[in-house]
Amino acid sequence: MKNWLSKCAFVCLIMTVVFFNSAVTSTACAAVGDGRLDVYWIDVEGGAATLIVTPQGESVLIDTGNPGIRDPGRIFKVVTEQARLTRIDHLITTHYHRDHFGGAAELSRLIPIGQVWDNGKFADMPNDPGPEYFGFKSESRQVISPGMQLPLKPARSIKKLLTGNQFKGLKLTCIAARKEFIDPTRGNRLNELTCADARPKDRDGSDNANSVTMLLEFGKFRFYDGGDITWNQETKLVCPVNLIGRVDVYQVTHHGLDSSNNPLVLRSILPTISVMNNGVTKGCMPEVFANLKATPSIQAMYQVHKNMREDGMVSNTATEFIANRKADECAGNFIKLSVAADSRNYTISIPAHGHSATYQTVAK
Ligand SMILES: [Zn+2]
Repeated sequence: MKNWLSKCAFVCLIMTVVFFNSAVTSTACAAVGDGRLDVYWIDVEGGAATLIVTPQGESVLIDTGNPGIRDPGRIFKVVTEQARLTRIDHLITTHYHRDHFGGAAELSRLIPIGQVWDNGKFADMPNDPGPEYFGFKSESRQVISPGMQLPLKPARSIKKLLTGNQFKGLKLTCIAARKEFIDPTRGNRLNELTCADARPKDRDGSDNANSVTMLLEFGKFRFYDGGDITWNQETKLVCPVNLIGRVDVYQVTHHGLDSSNNPLVLRSILPTISVMNNGVTKGCMPEVFANLKATPSIQAMYQVHKNMREDGMVSNTATEFIANRKADECAGNFIKLSVAADSRNYTISIPAHGHSATYQTVAK
């Protein structure tokens, strides 16, 4: 990234000197140093691949989609053509199911990967991703645990605008992993009223329950990504204490399947926007959809795919909020979130369809 930045700065300097009256200089490097924080939901057709690009140009990829060339290829395209980066600084693997770790090894052959964060090898691991996963090329590997923060460079725009007590900076924190949870802090609230409605679902013995769960904070903006964490673990995230707090954007957990997306979470975190990384026939289940619709704070529900399952359990958001609308010849369109440098509002767009809408960040 540094090389790219300095190259860009050099090219800009030359262009400025030679064509100082030309508008070309201002647009050629517009994306660099604009102070915004971007998130891309890359279409991996029912898997997960969420790319975060910080205002300092660092990249964090959460999950790598499915095995094969399709999903790593789509990730590579967004990283290089949209975010205009030449490496992935941090890769987080939420858990060891193929739709989350499957593209990692192939991706490492396409683009350099810095630090890998995952559950490592642990006792009673329900799924083993195998030697190719544990052996792919990266600069380093680290087991992630609740309470750990990724070492991201601070966002200068936020530092300048939110001073004193209001300073919240840029933070990406692990709040759950391997069925363990972050310790409550003084800012976390008791959640008695909501927790009175708690009911368990069938015990989930799969690796979904071990999902690494992350909270991204950028000034006033907050985004939650729970991987595929399942219902009974979700209860522990918000009961008896709400360990997440209120968020702006909720990545619908587990592609919108109803073994996850406990409504206690929605009622506790009160998101403004939901983004579902579902597939043509995966996720987007009626119970989840109904719970999202019943959450009064939600202003818009986005989906990576139109759901076209044939079992009669079809629910979809309005077409304008869907990135991929056909069953065949999927274009692999992404959804982009871009948070303003002062974090006071954010824009969600689906460039392939010209959709763009701006939402206010909610005071927490
Ligand atoms: Zn999954």
